[in-house]
Amino acid sequence: MDARGPISTALLDGLAVLLPVECAGCGAPDRGVCDDCRAALQPPEPAGHHLVTPPAARASADGRGLPLWFAVDYAGVPKTALHALKESGRVDAARPLGRLLGVAVTQAVAALGPGLPSGAMLETLVVPSSRSAFRLRGYNPVESLLRWAGPQPRRATGLRYVRALRDQASLGVEERWANLRGSVEAVRQRLSGRHLLLVDDVVTTGATLLECRRAAEAGGAIVWGSAALAHTAKVKRTNSELHGDLVSRQVYGGGKGAESNRPRLGRRVLD
Ligand SMILES: [Zn+2]
Repeated sequence: MDARGPISTALLDGLAVLLPVECAGCGAPDRGVCDDCRAALQPPEPAGHHLVTPPAARASADGRGLPLWFAVDYAGVPKTALHALKESGRVDAARPLGRLLGVAVTQAVAALGPGLPSGAMLETLVVPSSRSAFRLRGYNPVESLLRWAGPQPRRATGLRYVRALRDQASLGVEERWANLRGSVEAVRQRLSGRHLLLVDDVVTTGATLLECRRAAEAGGAIVWGSAALAHTAKVKRTNSELHGDLVSRQVYGGGKGAESNRPRLGRRVLD
């Protein structure tokens, strides 16, 4: 569904000579996301569904699972394209990725909506960017993805980080939990009485989502579930952490293998 006419296509071809770009999904020479990668980023039906649960060691304190809907596995073209968007400013990748996120949000809303009290309205709440990630990018990538996600529920805001975090990417499951615990808070009474669907781009252990749920509930909100563009189980973990986490995964889609493409700026920031 490309609305570019012949004139703008010619213009883009001209610009590509001056500013050569590679496909954000596979690195092939192209003006933007190539046709193959665009095909690999087609929204799956249905989205994957998964119950985010804390590791066994924390189950007594945070035992409730949080339903998660996600569009794709965090691998291949979606992974490379999302990385290019977040770390190399490849905004052309936002549109196909945003549509994927939209599928997950839509299916979450369809599944959760009937369970709400009559008259209640489910609102989305984007997981906030950590301070360091926001400083680095100047925007929240999930917000830009939602711009392409199609019709959406109303958006609520009202969570913020109250302290700096270590880079989650280098941490194991238990370390992520310790790093995140108490790091998010609800802003005044903004979330009181609101019915929320938490939205993030990539979910790994789910520790970020569960910390956001804790903070939102402390602020008086009711958190019904979560939606993400992608889900990954790839995280360093000890044997004791292998139990009780990441149950009943179902993965649809995933795209072709493009993981060998190295990130262009290489700066790692928080999930
Ligand atoms: Zn490509």
